[in-house]
Amino acid sequence: MLKGVDTIKLTKRQEEILQIVKDNGPITGKQIAERLFLTRAALRPDLAILTMAGNIEARPRVGYFYNEEREMMRQAEKFIKQKVANYKAHPIVVDISTSVYDAIVQLFLEDVGTLYAVDENGYLAGVISRKDLLRSAISNKSLEKLPVSVIMTRMPNIVMIKPENTLYDAAKLMIINHIDSLPVVKEADQDAKSFFVIGRITKTTITKAYLEIIE
Ligand code: ADP
Repeated sequence: MLKGVDTIKLTKRQEEILQIVKDNGPITGKQIAERLFLTRAALRPDLAILTMAGNIEARPRVGYFYNEEREMMRQAEKFIKQKVANYKAHPIVVDISTSVYDAIVQLFLEDVGTLYAVDENGYLAGVISRKDLLRSAISNKSLEKLPVSVIMTRMPNIVMIKPENTLYDAAKLMIINHIDSLPVVKEADQDAKSFFVIGRITKTTITKAYLEIIE
């Protein structure tokens, strides 16, 4: 969680007041009360809470201001809490015996940057990225005969994410590991050694979610 941001849940009326101050600030308590058809006294506790929580600021003889910095923190916190489950995209999966040539075709057809390879049980076995494919394309091997299993990044070196994790966790993992995407997985067995791929999170997912939340 962000430092300094408490998580007071605002009431409907407090949200209304916040919106009025946001749109019209600086605005006096009397003017806010008029807009809500309330008395100044009825409004006082809510204004006190919002001021104390830092959502709005009061300046003597001027009125109430909206706290922009605070709003940015609210948006950031909202972003941080989003679950991978709600943003994951469909994963493009190939069999480990698929040829590099077919994988390249698949990459273009599906318009993705990464493919996931699964073994005969349907368990995640490898990750094949654009650079992996380019590297094999400049080698002298026959791409029709070369299986992706030879060029992929394989288990247990795959960085994965679970649906219950947050977008923040995903963003951090991608940056730390210098990778563009993460397979979203669910455990296939008790010892958590095999996984099914149930989605993918990419840097684009993060950017899209960011825009969605801000807008
Ligand atoms: P690109 O190759 O298009 O730059 P990446 O930066 O995602 O794409 O991939 C860089 C390398 O990291 C590749 O060798 C790829 O196989 C590997 N890689 C990609 N995603 C993962 C992941 N989730 N876990 C482990 N390795 C990965």
